[in-house]
Amino acid sequence: MQISEKSYEVRNLIGGSWENGNGRETEPVYDPATGKVIGETPLSTKEDVDRAVEAAKAAFPGWSSTPVIERARVFFRYKMLLEEHFEELRDLVTLENGKDAKDAGGEVRRGIEVVEFACGMPSLLMGESVRDVARGIDNVSHRFPLGVVAAITPFNFPCMVPLWTLPVAIAAGNAYILKPSERTPLSAIRLGELLAEAGLPEGVFNIVNGARDAVNGILEHPGIEAVSFVGSQPVAEHVYRHGAAHGKRVQALAGAKNSMIVMPDAVLEKAVPNIVSSAYGNAGERCLAGSVLVAVGDVADEVVGRIREAAAAMKVGPGYEEGSELTPVIRDSHRDKVRSYVDSAEEEGASVVLDGREPPREEGFFFGPTILDEVTGEMRVAREEIFGPVLSVVRVGSLKEAVDFTNGSPFGNACSIYTENGAAVRYWRENVEAGMLGVNVGVAAPMAFFPFNGIKDSFYGDLHATGKDGVRFFTENKVEIARFLSEPGTAEAVKRPTESGA
Ligand code: NAD
Repeated sequence: MQISEKSYEVRNLIGGSWENGNGRETEPVYDPATGKVIGETPLSTKEDVDRAVEAAKAAFPGWSSTPVIERARVFFRYKMLLEEHFEELRDLVTLENGKDAKDAGGEVRRGIEVVEFACGMPSLLMGESVRDVARGIDNVSHRFPLGVVAAITPFNFPCMVPLWTLPVAIAAGNAYILKPSERTPLSAIRLGELLAEAGLPEGVFNIVNGARDAVNGILEHPGIEAVSFVGSQPVAEHVYRHGAAHGKRVQALAGAKNSMIVMPDAVLEKAVPNIVSSAYGNAGERCLAGSVLVAVGDVADEVVGRIREAAAAMKVGPGYEEGSELTPVIRDSHRDKVRSYVDSAEEEGASVVLDGREPPREEGFFFGPTILDEVTGEMRVAREEIFGPVLSVVRVGSLKEAVDFTNGSPFGNACSIYTENGAAVRYWRENVEAGMLGVNVGVAAPMAFFPFNGIKDSFYGDLHATGKDGVRFFTENKVEIARFLSEPGTAEAVKRPTESGA
């Protein structure tokens, strides 16, 4: 049977037991390529969150006192299991999210890289020390896990985003609750099954499926110390404010509006395929998608012409069909939203040079590749995240204007520049307001050992996910200052503890 013809049971994982919906309300999970329902996500309640917190709390003392090298070994085994099940995980991502095998495989690979990073936890947890800060006194810092922590994740990376935090948080000694997107819950279940197979004790990793109620249950729960969120800007802001008001440490990674600046000297034969893949890969549903092309000077006509030609030739189809280049968006309602952005741009005076509004396939949630030219900074499409296969083109006269346009956005996730000119790169890097920068790279994703680094309205909090930031986010320091009072080197100092029976 093809993967898309199966039906999946979406279960919670609480204290090592897989639970079905138990009569909870549900929300359908679709295969976006066909529009068929492939499962039902139970909308868990605050009471379910409560039970998950109790299970995690019960598991925490045993897990946090397990030596860090043993905790790391679970992740060495997990890494091998993820490799063994790589294709299965990739296909699950394609099924529930819609993206093609190349993107889905890339997502699983990026997730595995965080597991590899977490395998180094014995080194990552090292504290600092200064001996003899005064005579005979040493000052040392130690890292401790926080307790029960939670992550709330989006639909667009159902495997990678949970893996941004779970290996780091758990290898650092925390017990963890995952609330996956209700639209893409299947990958998380497989991640949980494989974690158990790797030997993680019951209750250390839990899954509570659902939506708003489950999220608010997490944010308000006094037993949860820290929350990592990834999703859209309004929800990120809510999670940050509400979580902080309930005394939690919060990191909230939010939406984006990323510019790709094309300079007149850009190497277009290589830049254009990269720009097309940034704008239309994963149907534009990436927080690192290049969604605005800022063309500097006289390069505009040529670059728009080449992109139009390449985008119009893209093969539209399901991610699990060989050769598909433009895959569906996540839901029909989301397709309507993308369409309304194109309508509004046209009404505001943009020119639609490639129009994908007419569904390119009968079934599924497909939206054709779209290019909006002559976009200006005031238009909605220049300011708001569309999250679909729509590229807006802004024409400017200089690099300074390109940077000023980019900085006019409330978001600050990523920005790319296409040029061979080092001075231009330097000016841009020093002045542009974005946390992730790409030079001739359209999807500026940092490796697992660096932070995923949005700024402005693309991020709420202090410490980012992944890299050493992730380790700091999921641990706290104790700083110890110590001296010993008996005379060193004397028989007295060695004898006394034994004599007292200590
Ligand atoms: P979303 O905000 O709709 O959902 C994210 C999570 O929040 C889900 O688990 C969902 O159940 C929950 N949620 C949704 N509405 C809620 C509400 N009203 N109250 C409480 N919880 C709620 O985001 P999405 O559509 O799943 O994901 C796409 C968004 O995520 C885009 O904006 C994208 O840019 C962003 N994203 C950002 C990054 C990043 O690193 N900055 C990475 C991936 C995705």
